[in-house]
Amino acid sequence: MTTAVDKEEVRKRLTPLQWHVTQEKGTERPFTGCYNKFYEKGTYTCIVCDQELFSSDTKYDSGCGWPAFNEVLDQGRIKLTKDTSSDMVRTEVTCSKCDAHLGHVFNDGPKPKRKRFCINSASISFHAAGEEKKST
Ligand SMILES: [Zn+2]
Repeated sequence: MTTAVDKEEVRKRLTPLQWHVTQEKGTERPFTGCYNKFYEKGTYTCIVCDQELFSSDTKYDSGCGWPAFNEVLDQGRIKLTKDTSSDMVRTEVTCSKCDAHLGHVFNDGPKPKRKRFCINSASISFHAAGEEKKST
């Protein structure tokens, strides 16, 4: 398996929690993530490989304690895997580029998609709108 990132470099760069969540499929404690109640305009990228994953436009307050989105920027940027590690069968969401664990997706989100991407703040990094390349 090839990955887009250097694990040693990543281990040095990430906080222990970010490492635990993305590399060991951990889950941050609910209501503790820095993006749980955060609604600035911008883009969320993978904390490990910087791939753009979610837009603030699709972020909403699900009340579940983690950042929730009802859509990804592009389906090709994530991988969905059946997760049977707990009693409840869930669908795990990972980054398509570096395999970082991001969170889970559920089908109880808002209409019309009904998707609720429940993502750990520790797995993503926020970039304010207009921060990078400016288009007229
Ligand atoms: Zn990634």
